[in-house]
Order: sequence, then structure tokens, then C-alpha cells
Amino acid sequence: MIDYHIHTSLSADCDVDMMEMAAAADKKGLKEICFTDHYDIDFPSEDDYTVDFELYAKQLSEVKAAYPQINIRKGVEAGLEPHSFHRFEKLLENEELDYVVGSVHVVCGLDPYFDTFWKSTGRQKAFDEYARLSLECVKAADFYDVFGHLGYISKYCPMDNNLFKYSDYTGVVDEILTTLVERGQGLEVNTSGLLKTGNLMPDLPIIQRFKQLGGEIVTIGSDAHASELVGYAADYTLNALKTLGFKYVCAYDKRVPRFIPIP
Ligand SMILES: [Zn+2]
Ligand SMILES: [Zn+2]
Repeated sequence: MIDYHIHTSLSADCDVDMMEMAAAADKKGLKEICFTDHYDIDFPSEDDYTVDFELYAKQLSEVKAAYPQINIRKGVEAGLEPHSFHRFEKLLENEELDYVVGSVHVVCGLDPYFDTFWKSTGRQKAFDEYARLSLECVKAADFYDVFGHLGYISKYCPMDNNLFKYSDYTGVVDEILTTLVERGQGLEVNTSGLLKTGNLMPDLPIIQRFKQLGGEIVTIGSDAHASELVGYAADYTLNALKTLGFKYVCAYDKRVPRFIPIP
């Protein structure tokens, strides 16, 4: 159906061309996709985690011409760190985008992808700090449309007890979700969690709580960095959302949500 979180070789951690990602989406029969390459200012890496917007525009127009049957949207994944919010606000003023998903990727100044992070931080501190920082980012900035993969700290946690649970962070998660609802921002349901923890990201009880608090704007995305993962578990996720009472999943045009009925 749709996939609103796809990376391409414009991201430092992906080497699949945009055209190949679109071909994979077409093969799976997706009707709409949104590219969301990484834009992380000051990411703790030697690689450049920003997007070359000129190259993006050129590649996007080629891909749109090659796949007119797919509604292809222009997005970006903004890496949220409080010290760079002003730079993001300025940057986004000058770019015509359809969709911005804001995601926390850096915890305690480090990238949780690496074992060194877990050795130096430990599980409890890593999860606590991720929760605190997510709330800080949601409270402090509203330049993004949807908060991405809440519970991301689970994704690379090497311990058995790796799920970011609603019951462990009730107060913080409620404040995050309430703030999003009040501001008209959405919650992303990221299917890549299924591959790592066996659960959606965020986990179902958090999505359910979002609904209880009045949340209506949800997007779904695979976070694919490989072509075979485009559209991953989209049907499963739509069914899960339907079971929780959601009637729509959202797409975006020029930063405005469009509600697509869940079949
Ligand atoms: Zn991300
Ligand atoms: Zn991503």
C-alpha cells in the first residue's frame, strides 16, 4: 500500500540508488512512497549524514518520470538533537518538502548502533536517557510533521530485555504523545522494529495510548536501507492499526496530512 520511510544512497548508511528503491516499491505494488534520507546535523560519525538537496531534486525527478504509477513524495528524516533545532528550522524554510519525520538517533552524545555505546552506557541509563531526550525534543521543537520510531533505543540493544515498553515509561510517553496530539503532529509506526525485537516501533501499547489520547495522525514506514525491505510488513501493520481503532493512515503533501482510509 504505502511506505513513508525509505532510505537511498543519499543517506550515508545506505548504498541502494533511489531508482532501485522505486523499482522495489513498484514490484511490491505500492501506490505511494516517501523518501526519507538522513539529515543529522553534527552526527557522531566521520561520514556526512546530511542530504545533498540538489542531487536529491535531480534524482527524484528522474525516478518520478520512470514510475508515474507511484505517488512519490519528497521527505527527509531529521535527526533530532536540541542544539541543532535552529539550524533545522532555517534549513527547512528553504526546502520544498512533503514530509519531515523527526527522529532521535544520538543518545548520550553517541550512536547506539555501536557496541561501545552499550558498554559505556548500560541498558538502564541508555533507555532512561533516550526517553528523557525524546520528550525534550518533542517539547522543544515542532519543525517536523511526525515523531519517528519512538522506542528506537530497542533497535540495537544487545541485551535480552530489549523492548522499550510503555509500562516502563508511562509518564514520559504520555507527555510525548499528548504534546504531539495537541500540536497536530503525528506518530510514525516503524516496521523495522519487528526484525529486531519482534515488535513494532513504537510497541502496540504505545500506539494504543496515542489513540486513547486523541491521536489520529499515524504514518507507516519500513525504514528500508535495502530494496527487499521496501513495504515490509505494511499489511500486518495496517491490520494492527485497524484493530486498535484507527480508520486512517496518513500521507503528506507539502507538509499537510492526507488521510487514507485503511481498507
Ligand atoms: Zn531513524
Ligand atoms: Zn530511517
